[in-house]
Amino acid sequence: MIQDFKKELQSADPQLLWFDRLRTLQVNLGNRCNHSCTHCHIQAGPNGKKIMSKTVMEEIIDFLRGCPGLCVDVTGGCPELNPDFRFFINSIYKLASKIMVRTNLTVFFEPGLDWIPQWYSRYKVVLVCSLPCYTQENVDKQRGQGVFKKSIAALKILNGLGYGVDNQLELNLVYNPGGDFLPGPQAQLEADYKRELEEKYGVKFNNLFTITNAPIGRFKRYLKANGKLKQYLRLLMENFNLDTAENIMCRRLISIDYKGVAYNCDFNQALNLPIIDSAGQIVSIERLDDVLSGDIEIITDDHCFCCTAGAGSSCTGSLVK
Ligand code: SF4
Ligand code: SF4
Repeated sequence: MIQDFKKELQSADPQLLWFDRLRTLQVNLGNRCNHSCTHCHIQAGPNGKKIMSKTVMEEIIDFLRGCPGLCVDVTGGCPELNPDFRFFINSIYKLASKIMVRTNLTVFFEPGLDWIPQWYSRYKVVLVCSLPCYTQENVDKQRGQGVFKKSIAALKILNGLGYGVDNQLELNLVYNPGGDFLPGPQAQLEADYKRELEEKYGVKFNNLFTITNAPIGRFKRYLKANGKLKQYLRLLMENFNLDTAENIMCRRLISIDYKGVAYNCDFNQALNLPIIDSAGQIVSIERLDDVLSGDIEIITDDHCFCCTAGAGSSCTGSLVK
């Protein structure tokens, strides 16, 4: 069984441990959320205090001005709960080739936030929505009582605006396992979701992204509390698939936290493993442009096995067919 992620990639191809080129800037607007899901790797919740300020947003906007045409992947917590969320999207609209927002859907029903779906459609924001299963039982178990019904109601609103109905407004769903197991094949699961959601609720969407649970944050606590951490890491290691390594997201994505600090990915952000430059300094958004012209080493550890297990996993789903 493979146990050393870095050594394995190093021996296959040392380039795999180095950043390739920037395609996606992922921006985490903070850890406030109207849920407190058991698998949440950033431990978001209603009392989240790490909220990106307008000043940091302006630094990101400056960076995008000098580096136009990127995909900007906006996440949280619940990004819509950042007070300057609208300002940020308005400002990057013309600078990014694509804006993706990761929404939990139920936020549309929070007081004063019912304008969000219509507003998304005006900006043609690509939506990536968490729906960890097509059954009420599993969704409510993972996310809380009543979440499934609200999610379906939100998806219907989005369909009514044209989301997921054709390719004009893209609506993607995210599946993550409800426990310590790997996702099933993405294409098969997507077909199941499409059939079940359309037949039972008349809901349509474009793509399903399967994402493997990372053994960090709240999910790691759950594994530890149930004596399953070693077993889960073993499962990830035993299913290591070298074919996924070329496409691990950290080779073409950089993740920015609420303070503007840069990371190889959202998981490294949650683990406080920032990108370090050749002088040993932590890299943040105002220096990212300079650092991009040099070599950026990817900081890896055991959690990285969640990206390479089975068909692989990334913020946009599996990595190989
Ligand atoms: S998993 Fe998503 S919806 Fe759940 S607490 Fe975390 S950020 Fe919120
Ligand atoms: S966890 Fe992050 S750094 Fe590790 S392989 Fe996955 S994307 Fe790359």
